[in-house]
Amino acid sequence: SEETLYIITPTYRRPEQIPELTRMAHTLMLIKNVHWLVIEDATVATKQVTKLLERTGLKFDHLIAPMPEKYKLKKGAKPRGVSNRNRGLQWIRANATRGVFYFADDDNTYDIELFDEIRKTKTVSMFPVGLCTKFGLSSPILKNGKFAGFYDGWVAGRKFPVDMAGFAVNVKFLHQRPNASMPFRAGYEEDGFLKSLAPFEPRDAQLLADNCTKVLAWHTQTKKNEPSAALDMKLYGSTNLV
Ligand code: UDP
Ligand code: MN
Repeated sequence: SEETLYIITPTYRRPEQIPELTRMAHTLMLIKNVHWLVIEDATVATKQVTKLLERTGLKFDHLIAPMPEKYKLKKGAKPRGVSNRNRGLQWIRANATRGVFYFADDDNTYDIELFDEIRKTKTVSMFPVGLCTKFGLSSPILKNGKFAGFYDGWVAGRKFPVDMAGFAVNVKFLHQRPNASMPFRAGYEEDGFLKSLAPFEPRDAQLLADNCTKVLAWHTQTKKNEPSAALDMKLYGSTNLV
């Protein structure tokens, strides 16, 4: 039997939101057995997002999880998408007993092959992410087929210098770790979450994507667009013109 894939996607209201989610939806529509958890950093769910989700025919839940004010008001780097992902973990704990989950930001690019790869995750799996950091790639390093370290342009004292799009987790494995969560610490979200999965060491990761020789996810970033013309969400997306 095919394990259900839970895709946890943080998103927030901005001119790029509908286009990002449209592209991502059209990727997920090619995948079997997915359940998309779309979680908005907002106090009210955006109606146009719900409409889009309904049109896809995908199994989904549209949830909200606003970033706490104290982080929102902070200058500099903010812990983006953290409340959303923790809300996703909470949903998984309450609603799923098996399967695999993956944190998939709304602006990344995913090869459909990735999803069959991460379905194999028995504990925690890891794999390369393209267009990531100044090195252009973040990946586990293998020597003689075995884990030998991480390649990443921003190690910064992290035990797990990996990108959010570079790992997946088995739902049963999460259930065995009731305290696992993501910290509100910009730059250290992945590291903090993976550390909270203890006992789990970098060498324990299940290495996917043909021994980490294939890039199946890219940390693409969409340029910011002028908000003024599109301030009203009525102007976003093909379903929203009336
Ligand atoms: N995000 C969010 N609230 C914010 C900023 C970002 O929920 O205030 C989401 C965003 O939609 C994305 C994830 O958090 O899915 C990571 O944000 P972003 O892509 O801006 O970060 P970066 O690519 O720079 O790591
Ligand atoms: Mn991004």
